[in-house]
Amino acid sequence: MNPYFITANDFDAFVTKMSKDKKVIGPKAKKQKFVFGEIKSADHLRLDYDVTILPPKKVFTPTCQTLVTFDGDKFEGNVDNDGVILFGVHFYDIRGIDITDLLFRENNRDVNYLAKREASTIVGSNIQNVSKRSFWGSIGTSDSGPKGHDAFLTKMDGGYVLECLTQKGEDLVKFGNWSKASAAQVSEAEKINKDVMDKCSQKLSHSSSEIAEKVRNSFDNQELWSNLAEDCFSCGSCNTVCPTCYCFDVQDKWNLNQVSGMRNRYWDSCLTEDFAKVSLGAGSEENFRETRGERFRHRIMRKATYLNEKLGTPACVGCGRCSAACTADIADPVNVINKIMEV
Ligand code: SF4
Ligand code: SF4
Repeated sequence: MNPYFITANDFDAFVTKMSKDKKVIGPKAKKQKFVFGEIKSADHLRLDYDVTILPPKKVFTPTCQTLVTFDGDKFEGNVDNDGVILFGVHFYDIRGIDITDLLFRENNRDVNYLAKREASTIVGSNIQNVSKRSFWGSIGTSDSGPKGHDAFLTKMDGGYVLECLTQKGEDLVKFGNWSKASAAQVSEAEKINKDVMDKCSQKLSHSSSEIAEKVRNSFDNQELWSNLAEDCFSCGSCNTVCPTCYCFDVQDKWNLNQVSGMRNRYWDSCLTEDFAKVSLGAGSEENFRETRGERFRHRIMRKATYLNEKLGTPACVGCGRCSAACTADIADPVNVINKIMEV
């Protein structure tokens, strides 16, 4: 596949034409912050965003998703396979999508996620502004770069380079006045994306494998976990904003006739008190993670060890959203993990 170049003057016309022809979801301003939302013209698109409030996972797994509708003994699956162009995704969020792709593909393929995901086109974009709480520069390994995108856009003086990686990426070129990028433009794009990796103000102090081992060995240190979780409100915000958290709760909604209804799934959070509570029948129940410390430990174990060992990369991409979302300011993986490494 090929790298292309478009001038800054022609870029807006490209975005507007593409968004007239296809549904484009990209970063937009929302008051002082940014969100992924529908882009209907180039004026909406804010490629200079630092980080969005919610990650783009919400496009493929909405906060509430109807899986099945039923009426008596008849039921119908509700699969949304309308592809979108997810445009302007930073590399750490593409890594988040890579992780959810793997998890939703393994064993029983999750068609409700995969139908829309596989029909969609993902275009990455370089980070023009670095969010204060991010630490993506110090997480993962050299081969844990993003993989699931179709093209990657890099802004530079005078225009943009678009590196197309798949046919879906290549198909976007028809919407604009793109020409073949020169070798100098391609190497300038590489340099821009390499240089930004040193720009995070926060850093993890150890490698992912050292962290995985130490965090696992800290499992039984009850005092450590209850101290780390002392101020936790169990609100679940750190899960909600995380690009790699994917747990959901399934609930049936019955219509008033008590015959028909729908089965929905909703985002769920392992930090909330009820997450691991199960019924034992006869009015009794069991909560497998009753204390805040146990729930806090579970989140860090998932990010740093369990999924790290399974995927070969931490289930944290260093976006810093959880740090910014936590009212008590105790969720920041850099602070938590660096503290564990010192014990
Ligand atoms: S744990 Fe926090 S920093 Fe890591 S990916 Fe999730 S939200 Fe981002
Ligand atoms: S760590 Fe922070 S964001 Fe997460 S549940 Fe506790 S208080 Fe809420």
